[in-house]
Order: sequence, then C-alpha cells, then structure tokens
Amino acid sequence: MGIEEWIAEKKASGAIRQVGFSFHGAQGGFFELLEAYNWDFCQIQYNYMNETYQAGRAGLLAAAKKGLPVIVMEPLLGGRLASGVPQSGLKIFGDANPAYSPAVWTLRWLFSQPEVTVVLSGMNAEQQLEENIAAAQSAGPGCLSREESAAIEAVKSVFEAAYKIPCTGCNYCMPCPQNVNIPGCFAAYNASYANGFVTGLTQYITSTAANRGQNYTARHCVKCGKCERHCPQQIEITKALGAVARRMEPFWFGAAIRIINAVQSSEKPGAAN
Ligand code: SF4
Ligand code: SF4
Repeated sequence: MGIEEWIAEKKASGAIRQVGFSFHGAQGGFFELLEAYNWDFCQIQYNYMNETYQAGRAGLLAAAKKGLPVIVMEPLLGGRLASGVPQSGLKIFGDANPAYSPAVWTLRWLFSQPEVTVVLSGMNAEQQLEENIAAAQSAGPGCLSREESAAIEAVKSVFEAAYKIPCTGCNYCMPCPQNVNIPGCFAAYNASYANGFVTGLTQYITSTAANRGQNYTARHCVKCGKCERHCPQQIEITKALGAVARRMEPFWFGAAIRIINAVQSSEKPGAAN
C-alpha cells in the first residue's frame, strides 16, 4: 500500500523521526512484525502476569537484541496488579517488604530488566505519580533480590488461581448492542474467586444494574460476536460470558433479584408500610 515509501518521505522531510509499532497479539505475529521492517522502537503489553502472554519476555528480548527500545504498556494490567491483588498475595508482599505497595513491586519487576526502556503507567492521583517516580528513581537493572523475585513468583501463583478471565477492563469491546456490561461481568466473576463468592455476586448485581431492574447480565448476550474482534487480549468473550452466567446467575438468581427490588421499592420515600 506504499506505506514504507510514505514513511521514508515523512522521515526525509523531518515530519516523522521515529517509527515503531504497538502490539497486542499472539507471539508469532510479534516476531514476524519485528522482522518485517527496520523499526526504531516497539511497544508491548508486559508485566509479571504476562511474561509468556502476547509478545512476552521472549518478544522483549528479541526486540532488545535488535537494538530496539521497548515501551511497556499495561504494566499494572489495567490496575489489577495495583489494587486487585488477593489478600493472600498482599500478605506475601507485606512479609517480603512492607514498604512497597503492590504497584511498586510491579514497577520494580519491570525496571529490574535492562531491556525495558519506558514504562507507561496510567495514574489518576498525585500520590500515585509520586510513588511511581520514587520507584523509578530507586530501581534499576538487577534491583530485585532473590527473595523479592521469589515473592513475585508466589503472588503470581495466587493470581493465576484467582483470576480466571484475563480482562484488563480496557472497554474496547464496548458498547454491546444488548448493553451487557462485559468488563463488569468479568471483573465480578474474577472477584468471586479472588475475594469470595458473595463479594463477587454483590459486584455482579451492581455492575450489571440487575438490582435496578435492568437486563445487562451475561446471560443476555446473544452471541452476535461484535465485541470479540475488538478485544486486545483475544478473550473469547461469548464463551467466557457463558461461564460467567453459569457461575453468577444460578437458578435462584432471578428470585434473589426480585426480593432485592421489592425491598428497595418498599424503602423508597412514600412507599406503603
Ligand atoms: S457477543 Fe454478546 S456481549 Fe458481545 S456484543 Fe454481542 S451481545 Fe454483546
Ligand atoms: S476488550 Fe477484552 S480486555 Fe478489554 S474490557 Fe473488553 S473483554 Fe476486557
């Protein structure tokens, strides 16, 4: 399509200085892409839970071997590695070093690898910014001790047992024509394993608006497939929603929702006693 010539022209004119690619896909595709052009940099999803996922560590090493700077996206896996660490994982981190937050552990893991050039971390509070800057200043290649690496490996096992669907909550699959809250369903389903069934169910009911008489739960998916082609994590969304519906909407779900709705309407101001 003449893209290479177009890039060459833009580079010659100074309009483009560096050309790179951002990658979500299977590892084989990453290696193919790496060889397909004389890139200046690349960007991959990478964190301690995605060491063998998408480009993964093998992709990171291959890019670095070619001299490419590597930008890391999703370092905290949509925030899950910062605020979604299950209790048993928090204990492992706390025992190993109580001074580090889960986010700092995750960033240190990345900064300890010399092949990582830039870490893109989404922040929405000044305190997070300060924490990230402090982590970047105190960490560097080889900074993790053997004990710290072991703690991360142990937390990884906790995550693997607790998080069944690798949704990052990016929302690229939304909106769903049936109004199914896809990331909300997956987050609640994962929480039902990570934090207990009741916690997950409560989250499920509120995030699907089932308690407000809406029909946005997993079982309302009509399998049109519109969402799946947008998912950078290649989640088989329709299949995964089937698993969510089986677990989160047991036979008594409808009756429970009707009771919740009845209680809520009786509590509204002006309702008959
Ligand atoms: S496949 Fe299901 S969840 Fe996805 S867009 Fe269609 S109805 Fe919505
Ligand atoms: S696109 Fe995929 S990862 Fe993103 S919210 Fe939807 S299901 Fe989750």
